Amino acid sequence: MDRSGTGRALVMGGGIAGLLAARVLAEHHLDVLVLDRDELTTQDDHGTRRGVPQGRHVHALLPRGRQILEELFPGLTAQLVDRGSPHGDLLADARLQLSGHRFARADARLPTVSVSRPTLEAVVRARVRELPNVTFSPACDVLGLTTTPDRRRVTGVRVLRRADSSAEEVQAGAVVVDAMGRASRTPRWLEDLGYDPPPADELAGDVGYATRHYRLAPDVLGGDWGSLQGPTPSCPRGGALARIDGDRWIVTLFGLLGDHPPLDHEGFLAFADSLTFPDLGRAIRTGPPLDEPVRMRFPASVRRRYERLRRFPHGLLPLGDGVCSLNPIYGQGMTVAALQALALREHLGRAPAPDPHRWLRRVARVVDPAWDMVVGGDLALPGVEGPRTPKVRLLGAYISRLHAAAEVDPELAVAFARVMALVDPPATLLQPQRVLRVLARGRPARGHVGTQPPGRDEQPSAGARAATTHRSWTETSEEVRR
Ligand SMILES: Cc1cc2nc3c(=O)[nH]c(=O)nc-3n(C[C@H](O)[C@H](O)[C@H](O)COP(=O)(O)OP(=O)(O)OC[C@H]3O[C@@H](n4cnc5c(N)ncnc54)[C@H](O)[C@@H]3O)c2cc1C
Repeated sequence: MDRSGTGRALVMGGGIAGLLAARVLAEHHLDVLVLDRDELTTQDDHGTRRGVPQGRHVHALLPRGRQILEELFPGLTAQLVDRGSPHGDLLADARLQLSGHRFARADARLPTVSVSRPTLEAVVRARVRELPNVTFSPACDVLGLTTTPDRRRVTGVRVLRRADSSAEEVQAGAVVVDAMGRASRTPRWLEDLGYDPPPADELAGDVGYATRHYRLAPDVLGGDWGSLQGPTPSCPRGGALARIDGDRWIVTLFGLLGDHPPLDHEGFLAFADSLTFPDLGRAIRTGPPLDEPVRMRFPASVRRRYERLRRFPHGLLPLGDGVCSLNPIYGQGMTVAALQALALREHLGRAPAPDPHRWLRRVARVVDPAWDMVVGGDLALPGVEGPRTPKVRLLGAYISRLHAAAEVDPELAVAFARVMALVDPPATLLQPQRVLRVLARGRPARGHVGTQPPGRDEQPSAGARAATTHRSWTETSEEVRR
């Protein structure tokens, strides 16, 4: 590399988006340097790091995300399974409850691995470290950007290493990727350089999360590996329970609009009991907790509209949560980052130098479906403030009827799960024959605490389902790639 940074890419942030971007940049024969303010370790620790506080909470890797990770790192799924991550279909082997309706059991051909965020990140990071043209610079704070004198091109970054008596230094790079997550300071740095900051769309749900790990029997959910419950208008609370690597179960409870789960033992249990379906509360009473609950507040989903800026410096490529940080109710953030990595691969394949405006429009198109889903879901809850346009209202009413219909119609349950998993586009839910099925079967959403009929949480035993729903991992993986 010469001092101008030609042939070198810098990735600011070594979280999921940064790791995947580094993998893609490396195949374009660039020397890649990943800078992160945290100490990054390769061991499979079960703790989390300061830069990624959300990693202590449930982190579902959606089927489309797993599929992309497998494409970028062949054999990754098997590596995760070897480390004890349970796997199975998203709908046949797990419970999905949205708008107060438990989805019908069906084989959605959506192979899923249930893994903790620290383990997933450690495995992906170890694979990136194997790439000969990628190096990591941990404990290294990025302070700002360097540019050409006319400020039209980013030429590198200013950094400060977290070591005694270190002084500010410059790292040069022809391509600089912003993967600093939700806390990215790029909007401010742009202003400092005389550019406009991106306009931001915000949807304030004031969500509070609380998470605890438990040692529970493998069959505590009747053989299922997980259960997800979304909020309803009358119960803006939800939660997820999943068996994960390390022979543990993780439970994350959440409440919107300031109704946050408490951390004391009794309060935590009572909050779990208050959910529409009883699975979580019942399950966590059957085994010992392994740690104290931890909490995190998620004030708002934020989407930075970089694509609307008329001026943007060459060489700078924002992605990941720095562009769009989604209310994680549908667990889409890491999968959106994975989709952006594929988009980056395609973008770099088209032209030798990235085109910032084309890139920003591309990122916006990747984000659109997940953003629309989160906006629609959040605005279905009366207290959430946001623009309830006629389109949002209509789609919200339709999706809530679809959820009701999915309780009894496996085909609709599969269709929604595949859109939620970011495998199929949202437009598939509006195919005429599906609309007719929804209108014929969907009842308006219920969702009152305790409205489910007795025995509603009972599921066919895993053994009984096995004959019809379980196929080999390779078989289901092959199917989902088609
Ligand atoms: C409670 C909660 C639960 C979630 N659950 C899920 C889920 O189930 N499934 C899912 O897919 N997503 C989930 N998400 C979202 C997911 O965590 C993010 O979408 C994903 O981590 C985005 O990756 P990223 O690389 O953009 O950002 P991050 O993973 O946050 O990484 C940013 C990195 O940048 C580094 N950094 C920041 N500033 C600097 C700086 N100045 N200098 C150097 N380094 C810096 C940080 O140390 C960090 O390593 C959840 C989020 C929350 C809050």
